[in-house]
Amino acid sequence: MSDATPRETIFSGIQPSGELHLGNYLGAIRNWVALQSSYRCFYCIVDYHAITQAFEPSEMARRVRDMAGDLIACGIDPAQSTLFVQSAVPEHTELAWVLASVTSYGELGRMTQFKDKSEKSPDNINAGLFTYPVLQAADILVYKATKVPVGEDQRQHLELAREIVRRFNTRFGDTFPEPEALYSSTPKILGLDGQAKMSKSLGNTISLREDDEAVWNKLRTAATDPARVRRTDAGDPDKCNVFSLHRFFTTEERQAEVRKGCTSASIGCIECKKWLLEGIKADLERIRARRAELLSKPDAIDEILADGARRARKVAAATMAVVRERLGLPRMPGPAG
Ligand code: ADP
Repeated sequence: MSDATPRETIFSGIQPSGELHLGNYLGAIRNWVALQSSYRCFYCIVDYHAITQAFEPSEMARRVRDMAGDLIACGIDPAQSTLFVQSAVPEHTELAWVLASVTSYGELGRMTQFKDKSEKSPDNINAGLFTYPVLQAADILVYKATKVPVGEDQRQHLELAREIVRRFNTRFGDTFPEPEALYSSTPKILGLDGQAKMSKSLGNTISLREDDEAVWNKLRTAATDPARVRRTDAGDPDKCNVFSLHRFFTTEERQAEVRKGCTSASIGCIECKKWLLEGIKADLERIRARRAELLSKPDAIDEILADGARRARKVAAATMAVVRERLGLPRMPGPAG
């Protein structure tokens, strides 16, 4: 893309869950990496979202840094994208308050994610959990992002963000663009059980930080085509979760070889898994090497995040200045003059 073409703005966030797993990597982060070259990307570690559920304060800073390290190791390039932490840019929460005033109680109560989370933690149904989608809308709108790479589970929240934009613009004048979802082409990587979505909370993941031996131990026992009981049974690759992972890590020739071997029972599941391991190892080694390089420079992650926050704040502060003006708030010199 030539420099003369203004790039569209992307915002996407991820909670500081500690470690990325193959599901996050294949479903979201690889896409983030690919988008960097054609969009102006803001990638945010959303720690203020994370505090709406039970968490351990003494671990939070480490979780944030680990997530930043993993993202960079996976290929997020801080020179190309703005990588930062949500709580370092107070305009997110400031705008969230404003947007909360054009969001109705009824709409928030209809959010299925709020209902799900409330059911899972009945003793912690806090107001932050309820207004979570408003902060999410602010995350996006404070950068006037037009594209938001998300999973299908965020469809309802994004629709609400669009409704918030329409309402704000109608009431206070054209201020925000309506953001559009960029749905992942890989919305659902199944866990090693081959049943449920790979998810940290289900314990069915392969973490990007695991060593080769740990990865193999998990792969070895991973579910395959349930109808292939004996080594001599022919398998159906299209019903096998392990085979579905080959398409991310294995050449097309090798995939064809695996398919032929499986359907004719000339190879067993263990061979298929060994070939898959080769591909996963190559990716994980690359990620590991980048992470090690990053960690060899003390403070590198903090410096990257501080620089990202500075860049993000510049944009966010300009948006908030317009928002305050639209709301007719008095202009008062702040502490910075
Ligand atoms: P987890 O369920 O492990 O806590 P998150 O909900 O934090 O993961 O997801 C972070 C990002 O990774 C989201 O964009 C989500 O859509 C994506 N993601 C998570 N798990 C998967 C999966 N199994 N398959 C595809 N994408 C996933």
